[in-house]
Amino acid sequence: MHSPANGPQWRLPTQVIALQEPLLQGNFPLPKTFPSGSLESVQAYTDGKANRAEEGALPMLECEYDLILQGGHVIDPANEVDGVRDVAIAGGKIAAVEPDLPVDRARKVINVAGSLVTPGLVDIHVHAYGGYSGWLFPDEHALPNGTTTVVDTGSAGWRTFKEFKATIINRSRVRVLAFLNIVGRGMLGPEVENNTEDMEPEPTARCVAQYPEWLVGTKTAHFQQPGWTAVDRTIEAGRLCGKPAMIDFAPRPERSYEELILKRMRPGDIHTHVYAAHIPLLDDQGRVQEFMWEARRCGVIFDVGHGTGSFWFRRAVPAIDQGFIPDSISTDMHKYSILIPQATMPPTMSKLLNIGMSLREVVRRATLHPALEINRPDLGTLSPGAGADVAVFQVEEGEFGFVDSGRARMRGTQRLRCLMTLRDGEVVWDLNGLAWQDWRDAGEYGVLNQYGEDLRKPRPAGPEAPAGATKSCRP
Ligand SMILES: [Zn+2]
Repeated sequence: MHSPANGPQWRLPTQVIALQEPLLQGNFPLPKTFPSGSLESVQAYTDGKANRAEEGALPMLECEYDLILQGGHVIDPANEVDGVRDVAIAGGKIAAVEPDLPVDRARKVINVAGSLVTPGLVDIHVHAYGGYSGWLFPDEHALPNGTTTVVDTGSAGWRTFKEFKATIINRSRVRVLAFLNIVGRGMLGPEVENNTEDMEPEPTARCVAQYPEWLVGTKTAHFQQPGWTAVDRTIEAGRLCGKPAMIDFAPRPERSYEELILKRMRPGDIHTHVYAAHIPLLDDQGRVQEFMWEARRCGVIFDVGHGTGSFWFRRAVPAIDQGFIPDSISTDMHKYSILIPQATMPPTMSKLLNIGMSLREVVRRATLHPALEINRPDLGTLSPGAGADVAVFQVEEGEFGFVDSGRARMRGTQRLRCLMTLRDGEVVWDLNGLAWQDWRDAGEYGVLNQYGEDLRKPRPAGPEAPAGATKSCRP
């Protein structure tokens, strides 16, 4: 276990996020908009009322907790936690993150000593809908890798979002959010994506405003025509709906990257693919360009967006050596990036870890930062009252190799491997079967849930339980 020495002192998690604090290195104030339209709900998190309300609705019986993940090394940047803690879950929410919680008050205890425990990862660049030919249904690649929230980046536009929601978002176990493409029909190939006629800020912004629970901003990508039309209309749509724009950009003689990040993008807008070969991040001597630092100071966000073509060690290593680390880590997950470059979150995080970022910074940029970038301070955190989205990793030590988008190899000695993923308190991925009962004790044939209860039988306790029934704690 790679254990960052001398983490900050544990303090009671009284706040999810100090919203007034500067967010990233760019030192810009956080946009103060909340997606579910409810400042109260965020405030409820910050003062713990959400948790108490939940307890009121579903009174605890004998057991205070449904589950305790015991003895893992917890890194929860939102609460500045970095050390051995137990994580207790009740009613699908985080109930407590403290040392030595009373295990006899839990229905189930899973020992995760020696493992790393983090908030469920937030991957703000995936492709999860059929407009883009490389799209993948997100559950299969996200949940086995500790990712509990994915953000589709522009696969759908305002004309196609309804179908995306009906066919993918509503059917996924992983939380699926989205940046809406400025192209009304979404990512349907060059002919459609280069048609400026279908890039309309107003209907795009209206659609984002209509679905605030799912749509976190606007997106442009793959624009191969001259000029700024795609970028400007995407940012205009973002301005109209009060959300960030995510920009995938190809510089051309008449439109420079420098102009994009210094003059066109707003504080809080996100450039994805920062370590791509086509982005002039470094000068001829391999130094990080002054305009990169300047844009960062102005609040432009720089995201990884690994993909099959956009993460090059030849860019990332010198930049990170000079301190230009990414604000957020994302995969650009699709059919091709999942294979040779292994762009899912744990390998991408492992690459950055082996380049030299600390484990703590890597976790921060895969949880708290992306959640803040999309204005969702309720995600990427283990604050009591937050939904119990949790990831458990093994930090393997050994001789490993990693591949980038240029098909170049980097050796490394540390590798993150996801052991377990919980979504709203339910174990949805469990590499070693830690949550489940030994088969010799499993009784007659029946499917057992993570608490060892037979799913064929009525639940032993709950609001509708027969009189006298109780929720049984561990012996
Ligand atoms: Zn992409």
